[in-house]
Amino acid sequence: MSDPHDGRPEGTVTWGELLVETVARLRDGGIAAAEAEGRWLVEEASGLDAAEWIAGRDELATQRTVARLDDMVDRRLVGEPVQYVLGRWGFRRLDLLCDRRVLIPRPETEQVVEVALGALDQVLMARPDGHRPTVVDLGTGSGAIALSVAAERNGVDVWGVDASADALDVARANLGGLGMAGGRVRLLHGSWYDPLPSELRGIVDLVVANPPYVAEDEALDASVADWEPAGALVPGPTGLEAYGEIVSGAGEWLADGGVLVVEIGATQADAVRALAEDAGLDDVTVHADHAGLDRAVVARRS
Ligand code: GLN
Repeated sequence: MSDPHDGRPEGTVTWGELLVETVARLRDGGIAAAEAEGRWLVEEASGLDAAEWIAGRDELATQRTVARLDDMVDRRLVGEPVQYVLGRWGFRRLDLLCDRRVLIPRPETEQVVEVALGALDQVLMARPDGHRPTVVDLGTGSGAIALSVAAERNGVDVWGVDASADALDVARANLGGLGMAGGRVRLLHGSWYDPLPSELRGIVDLVVANPPYVAEDEALDASVADWEPAGALVPGPTGLEAYGEIVSGAGEWLADGGVLVVEIGATQADAVRALAEDAGLDDVTVHADHAGLDRAVVARRS
């Protein structure tokens, strides 16, 4: 049998060997997707992406990078979500910084952005040439929704608001990674509509939000409850409190024909529809996610 360490200084290890070791540690620790997660963690620690792997897997890892990988695996094994351990996660076209200051960007929210962009496009069809669109993202967190709108639609002014200064720091870092499109994004600290400049009153084309919507007594997965910021998940006893605030301000801030798009929990469509209708919004529609669960409510100010 050949010695895998043949001809190498003692104590050294290649990235390929570390991958095998990492996957085994994760699997022994009960991580279901050990294979995929092991690869992500090794890619993050090594700086080798999938395309560089074939050439790089026989490279020796430095002690410092091995220590970093060990630390990441330890964190994962005590239950920290892999997205936080990696420190970044893909959302639509973006590679977002994410840590415990913000909610993990979720695939369901990528679909809410799809709904919001479609609704925005419809609003803009009725606007005159040269109209400069304005979008507000309430409770922007990591900036996932606000920055996606800026990245995917040209010439839109985007305002992201969050009551958490910590979350805004993450959003600001993500904004820094956006390049040119980032010049049209402004991030404001405060509660819902409060920090918006009053010139925006009555001219907003789209208000979008993924607010906290989990009821106080709702059981959450430990991976969510133990790690993600409670303030981004639970607005109050019923889970509907944030919608009350968002919907009641929408009439004042939206332009004629402007739309409100909110992410919802699977059982909240009727309640949010009622809030929107009571606030005088109309054309209320409910949109399901890829799992077939109600995930977004759209309402128009006419
Ligand atoms: N979708 C999240 C969850 O159920 C909740 C997100 C939110 O409250 N905005 O874990």
